[in-house]
Amino acid sequence: MNQSPSGDGANESLQPLEIPGAIARIKSKIVVLSGKGGVGKSTVAANLAAGLALEGLRTGLLDVDVHGPSIPRIMGLAGVKPEMAGDAILPVEWNWNLKVVSMGFFLANPDEAVIWRGPVKGGVIKQFLTQVAWGDLDCLVVDCPPGTGDEPLSVLQMLGEDATALVVTSPQDVAIDDVRRSIGFCRELGNPVLGIVENLSGFHCPQCGTVHDIFKSGGGERLAESAGVPFLGRIPIDGEVGRAADQGEAYLAVKGTSPAASAFKRVVAAAVRHAAGRGREASGDA
Ligand code: ADP
Repeated sequence: MNQSPSGDGANESLQPLEIPGAIARIKSKIVVLSGKGGVGKSTVAANLAAGLALEGLRTGLLDVDVHGPSIPRIMGLAGVKPEMAGDAILPVEWNWNLKVVSMGFFLANPDEAVIWRGPVKGGVIKQFLTQVAWGDLDCLVVDCPPGTGDEPLSVLQMLGEDATALVVTSPQDVAIDDVRRSIGFCRELGNPVLGIVENLSGFHCPQCGTVHDIFKSGGGERLAESAGVPFLGRIPIDGEVGRAADQGEAYLAVKGTSPAASAFKRVVAAAVRHAAGRGREASGDA
């Protein structure tokens, strides 16, 4: 049986797809992946993008989760409809440094289930990369649905081998097993991994200061070590992170100091270093 993500004809379909010129103005691309749903991938993607914008980087946030787009709610942009300029889609501005596009902006009815096969999803993702007026970006953050299906495959192929993956996991073994597959998926496509983030990792009790490992902890770090990829830290369980997401406030924009904010900032710092490296390569100083 063919074990590759796309079934028959996989070798052919794993080739990069040409998108001439369209993404040349984006210096660095970070694709946020997870093995499982519910581990906080969209929360990490949203806070990474907000954190990069707050650091002064020109940032784009693209949500290609066609079946469960949560970025509009997390970023406080639910119900917003992007405008068009001719054939171009104008991304929605979260602030002057952060432009957002989500499949959720284009659903007539947010309760509607999207029933699309792979090629249709690939067509929509291509439109998001080629027909959105992203302009010059220091970093594009792409939030993919969990797993190694059509959406992450299309995104990585279209962005090419210089797109790097940020893999989010929770500490439980059942999530870690799936993350191993996500790393294998990136390797098969020839994309580097920026690092692994372990979210929902322990709870810092505000009363006694003790850290309680509700879902265990350390699995992400062990996996990073065994897979030879950087470990970018543990983000603790923090009710404020969930509350901010539900209320459409990017957590990092409202909460600067907490164990969770420090952990998010460590991920942002890794992305800033990556964007700076890509900038140097583009200008020939690498
Ligand atoms: P995914 O994109 O992996 O499906 P989400 O980012 O939508 O996951 O997060 C799932 C739920 O967990 C959301 O309600 C979110 O607010 C909450 N959440 C994510 N990370 C944390 C955290 N560190 N602490 C508390 N709640 C969190």
